[in-house]
Amino acid sequence: MTTPQTQRAHTPKAQVTRGRELQTAASWQRELDVALDAVRQGTALARQIRQDARATSFLKADRSPVTVADFAVQAVIADRLANAFPDDPLVAEEDAASLQSPERHATLEAVRDAVHRAVPAFPAGHVLDAIDRGRSVPCARFWTLDPIDGTQGFVRGHHYVVALALIVDGRVQIGVIGCPQQLLPDGSPESGTDQGAVMWAVRGGGAFGESLDQRECVRLRVSTCQESRRARVLRSFEPEHIDVRAFEEIVRALEVERAPMLMDSQAKHAAIATGHADLLMRIPATRTFRDKIWDQAAGTLLVEEAGGRVTDLQGGELDFGAGRELTRNEGVIASNEALHNAVLDTVKRVIASSRH
Ligand code: AMP
Ligand code: MG
Repeated sequence: MTTPQTQRAHTPKAQVTRGRELQTAASWQRELDVALDAVRQGTALARQIRQDARATSFLKADRSPVTVADFAVQAVIADRLANAFPDDPLVAEEDAASLQSPERHATLEAVRDAVHRAVPAFPAGHVLDAIDRGRSVPCARFWTLDPIDGTQGFVRGHHYVVALALIVDGRVQIGVIGCPQQLLPDGSPESGTDQGAVMWAVRGGGAFGESLDQRECVRLRVSTCQESRRARVLRSFEPEHIDVRAFEEIVRALEVERAPMLMDSQAKHAAIATGHADLLMRIPATRTFRDKIWDQAAGTLLVEEAGGRVTDLQGGELDFGAGRELTRNEGVIASNEALHNAVLDTVKRVIASSRH
């Protein structure tokens, strides 16, 4: 039991530790400033392209959809990072090859046009090179970017985010998410809004959210929900992205009362970090599937720094130092921390029995 005396003995040490963490966070200020600026600009560009109704998609070689916005946002953010941190590699989702075939000529022109409107000084001949900066190989320190996370949501007019993270020695050091439809803690997550927010976290420095018009800035904290039956649970909108049967079985085993919320992208992580939701479960459709690092990095730190927890299905920490994919982690569970252990027990039990 903690006595008043031991509490007193521990308080100064806790303060010193916290002070050191904040000091560490402060030393990443330049990286954070550049990342915030780049994501704000990328998010504004993505919204503009959507408003102009130029969100038509085509399929890449791997059959995943892509739009003008994916390429344009990647070009703009890659260029910002290259100017500020020329030695930092970028590992990003898109590459220029899929824009270079003759039948993609009109798309390439639309990308050049969108980039030019966002950054008039951007040389048109530099767009493909900027996009291809994202082909770097992960190393000790690098940035990872999903220019439009949730492209299908973007095309449908649902949730999507611009997600940028700095990885150092396999851990996320900075995470920034531009959420055009996400609300700060006093809004409702499903309704969507024209307002939008940018959310960020620096390891050891807490998580914050600011409205896109920069009028409101708040510290983010996860919910206090302790009972899994009362949890607001999130899953991918696209059923192909997860094992829906296992997901539903886990939800039943946890006796969750409310229907799960279906949401694309790391908007789900933002919903947990703002306290709008309590739990997200990403149960892969196949045992061999591994998530891309840019699909999880920024959101993971955001949840953790808002007081939540993120692990794989076995309870292991996500390892962002294993390449372009989370090779060492199967699936993702993100929660407000209070629910995590009980959920993990249920997830492990249901998955073990479903695989027999
Ligand atoms: P979400 O909306 O949370 O499912 O996340 C969207 C991301 O899922 C996209 O950026 C894709 O990289 C990724 N994705 C695409 N196909 C799959 C798949 N078969 N299983 C899991 N994730 C996928
Ligand atoms: Mg993505």
